[in-house]
Amino acid sequence: AKASGKISHQVFAHKMRAEALKRLQLEADLYEAIKQQEFELYYQPIFNLTTGRISGFESLIRWHSPQRGFVYPDAFIPIAEEIGAIIPLGEWVLKEACHQMYQWQQQFTEASSLFISVNLSGRQFVQPNLVDTVQNILQTTGLDSSSLKLEITESMVMENIHQAIAMLDNLKALGIKLSIDDFGTGFSSFSYLHRFPMDTLKVDRSFVSNMNQSQKNFEIVSTIILLAHKLEMDVVAEGIETDTEKMALKKLGCEYGQGYLFAKPLPVAEVDKLLLNK
Ligand code: C2E
Ligand code: CA
Ligand code: CA
Ligand code: CA
Repeated sequence: AKASGKISHQVFAHKMRAEALKRLQLEADLYEAIKQQEFELYYQPIFNLTTGRISGFESLIRWHSPQRGFVYPDAFIPIAEEIGAIIPLGEWVLKEACHQMYQWQQQFTEASSLFISVNLSGRQFVQPNLVDTVQNILQTTGLDSSSLKLEITESMVMENIHQAIAMLDNLKALGIKLSIDDFGTGFSSFSYLHRFPMDTLKVDRSFVSNMNQSQKNFEIVSTIILLAHKLEMDVVAEGIETDTEKMALKKLGCEYGQGYLFAKPLPVAEVDKLLLNK
């Protein structure tokens, strides 16, 4: 028993070392990727469920890694957050997304009223100079502040509520819009919700999928929509994959929808085609 314990300990130590090395390599690659600009933004259209027309886009980052291939954000955003690389990366995302939306608004007359919705990370949200950064980016890209939405999750706000409310108020003062992302998945305090100056609430995909098979999910979605409307927020339902889901959400008064039923996140060239054919 002793001998096999020793072996398994060695195997374990070896695995740990391998994991640590892999992780270190990923961190190094991330910094290199920022330098070499290996990132690309994809854009997923958000539709007005009443008119069926595109209202805006959410920007979603992708990494073209020479070593790893096409990498989705869930595989690197959490690590970029941990090591702080999300600060320069997030700034690039914001600038790129604003620049791109400005381009579309110039190129296509139908695009002049579209908004761009950009995901913010927790680390970015507590940067004291975030408001200045956003203001500078709006200025240099030329994008009107009313065309920019920032997506913020509940957990980011709940960590330090008073500081968060101050930050949100300052961001709102720029004239931008605020969206509460992944609603229902974190800890939300209903006693504070009305104090967050949010324009939009995004219902998480986990509630939307199967809302027609699960009575519970259906009740959760309809209650979230009611709550949002009472607090004068409009609602985006995420992850709509079926026509039945779309119809049910429309019936519940949900204003906007996003999901594979309409479109996947698209590279710029695909969005160009979409806007051209409108
Ligand atoms: P999220 O903000 O909740 O974004 C929605 C995710 O759902 C996206 O995954 C999108 O591709 C996916 N999605 C949209 N419609 C459907 C659908 O109908 N079915 C299914 N199964 N999925 C759908 P993605 O692009 O892999 O992004 C994952 C997460 O990574 C995002 O979740 C967001 O938290 C984070 N992320 C992405 N881009 C950025 C960024 O630029 N900055 C930061 N901080 N986080 C980002
Ligand atoms: Ca989001
Ligand atoms: Ca979301
Ligand atoms: Ca999510």
